[in-house]
Amino acid sequence: MGRKGISQYIPQRTCVACRQVRPKRELIRMVRIANGSIEVDTDGKKPGRGAYLCKNLECWEAGIKGNRLDYTLRTTITKENREQLMKYSKDVLKESKDGKNS
Ligand SMILES: [Zn+2]
Repeated sequence: MGRKGISQYIPQRTCVACRQVRPKRELIRMVRIANGSIEVDTDGKKPGRGAYLCKNLECWEAGIKGNRLDYTLRTTITKENREQLMKYSKDVLKESKDGKNS
């Protein structure tokens, strides 16, 4: 007992902004919904084309303001949508600050 040698499969995804591969649960999924706008998929279960971003404001800014998300999800983010996502990022990302000083 106890020696199973299982290598637990951890799904990994790539952040569209910094291109780092990370375990899926360390990333936030963005999904393109039917009308072409992008929503944050907090459960990771929404249907549709998805893209991932680190829980890191720099990546959100690069992804959202820098058009990486538009490109990956083959849509055009409206100004309102962009603002909505950035607002969301500020709410979510402040909780998961790493205490990383630079
Ligand atoms: Zn990233």
